[in-house]
Amino acid sequence: MAAAKVYDYLVIGGGSGGIASARRAASYGAKVAVIENNRWGGTCVNVGCVPKKIMWSAASIAETLHEATGYGFDSSAETKKFDFAFDWPRLKAKRDAYITRLNGIYTNNLTREKVDQVFGTASFVDKKTVRVDGVDYTAKHILIAVGGKPWYPQVPGADFGITSDGFFDLEYLPKKVALSGAGYIAVELAGIFHTLGSEVTLFIRHKEFLRSFDVDIKETIFDTYTKMGIKIVNFSEISAIANTGTALKKSLTISVERRLNGSSVATTEVLDGFEELVWAVGREANTELLNLGVTGVTLNKGGFIVVDEYQNTVVDGIHALGDVCGVATLTPVAIAAGRKLSDRLFGGQTNSKLDYTNIPSVIFSHPTCGSVGLTEVEARAKHEIIKIYRTKFTQMHYAMTENYGDNKPPTMYKIICAGPEEKVVGLHLVGKASDEILQGFSVAIKMGATKADFDNTVAIHPVAAEEIVTLK
Ligand code: FAD
Ligand code: NDP
Repeated sequence: MAAAKVYDYLVIGGGSGGIASARRAASYGAKVAVIENNRWGGTCVNVGCVPKKIMWSAASIAETLHEATGYGFDSSAETKKFDFAFDWPRLKAKRDAYITRLNGIYTNNLTREKVDQVFGTASFVDKKTVRVDGVDYTAKHILIAVGGKPWYPQVPGADFGITSDGFFDLEYLPKKVALSGAGYIAVELAGIFHTLGSEVTLFIRHKEFLRSFDVDIKETIFDTYTKMGIKIVNFSEISAIANTGTALKKSLTISVERRLNGSSVATTEVLDGFEELVWAVGREANTELLNLGVTGVTLNKGGFIVVDEYQNTVVDGIHALGDVCGVATLTPVAIAAGRKLSDRLFGGQTNSKLDYTNIPSVIFSHPTCGSVGLTEVEARAKHEIIKIYRTKFTQMHYAMTENYGDNKPPTMYKIICAGPEEKVVGLHLVGKASDEILQGFSVAIKMGATKADFDNTVAIHPVAAEEIVTLK
């Protein structure tokens, strides 16, 4: 075997975290290679944030089209002005082309910044050497940024369903779709399917979904989804799936174990006629091909790589970050951790590390919701003095709309303050445009803003967010 190729920095995984870290290291003059065995850009670009946001935007346009008549637009048979049919295959083709373009931009950036790109699956030979297609590579610092992948529950017929990866391969909008799961992906995809016109049933194990979120977020979204017509089957677990259709045109029969009102006695319900089933039950670390056993890198109980606050594993010279560590599994977190690590290893910033507190995140539900800081439960456990400011209202946008009947989409804003100085320790938003509103407020909270700082900020009128600085 030829001698190993020598680098300063070897990055395994060309996704959000790996690419960001590699480019930052190269900017300091380090000799860097990135190894990727699938599509450049990783989960976010190919089967995550980017195609998901495009589908969410399509669903939001569908919402606006339904609202149009309320604003005086005429969709009558005579004018035919708003007679839109939704062409899923056309959107998918455009979305796929956009992503292919992004893949190219990622590789061009790496080439321009003199980061070597190695295509293939990386596997450790020892703690200093990584092999790809029979070629060995070694570096003083090796980064594991291999991300995660969705998993399937072990129930008979599970393979008749798909995961979020398969969602992005769908060639048509299923008329009747089932989802299993209770986190970000289940809630986002349920909203997209429903808004685009599918009949949606969401199976969740407990009484509610989004259980780690603040009570007012989860209850408001749950209530809104129910009123919108998404069928939520709580206290349920899918136990078997059969397909009486074909592989191309499925007709799924789903058996569900249901514990009504959480009782310990389960009854079995059988529901049929589903054209698709999406498993959205979480993601696991993508470590299986790495041969980590030869390195001594440790995993936690969930199979995620254990790192310290500087993204160091227990093995000197091996670092890990992003989804493979299973903490705050969001793209901007992987990117920020990757850049901070390279600032430390190659940029002379010896204490550079990511602060994992007050990370904002948004769910692209319908309407959107988002949080930064502590939930009410967390705040009560951590602080003695808590004051909560909350408002629920209907945005002016819906004053003219006619399509929602009595179920106009709600807006809920909640500010959680701690201590006599009323430091803002949590902000929770539900409502149209919450996804855009949250970012700026996150800066204020990160800087330590108090309720008085919010109050002293002159409102912008008329926008929904003015309520956040005028809450009594
Ligand atoms: P990845 O981006 O997954 O990159 C890892 C890369 O490593 C992959 O390209 C993989 O092919 C490669 N790889 C794996 N094993 C090997 C190997 N042995 N050799 C070589 N290469 C290997 N986050 C947000 O912030 N906002 C969102 O709106 C959002 N939406 C999402 C929607 C969905 C449906 C999903 C699934 C995720 C979403 N996320 C979102 C999460 C976000 O995509 C991830 O947090 C982010 O991509 C993690 O980046 P990473 O670098 O850790 O891993
Ligand atoms: P999550 O971890 O968010 O949610 C999965 C949920 O599924 C669990 O919390 C659990 O909820 C439920 N579940 C687990 N096992 C089963 C089972 N056997 N049967 C039924 N339900 C089960 O994972 P996701 O896959 O939704 O998303 C992965 C991560 O990707 C997210 O945590 C987030 O970090 C990121 N992401 C971010 C997005 C964004 O920023 N907008 C969008 C999409 C993903 P319970 O215990 O209540 O049953």
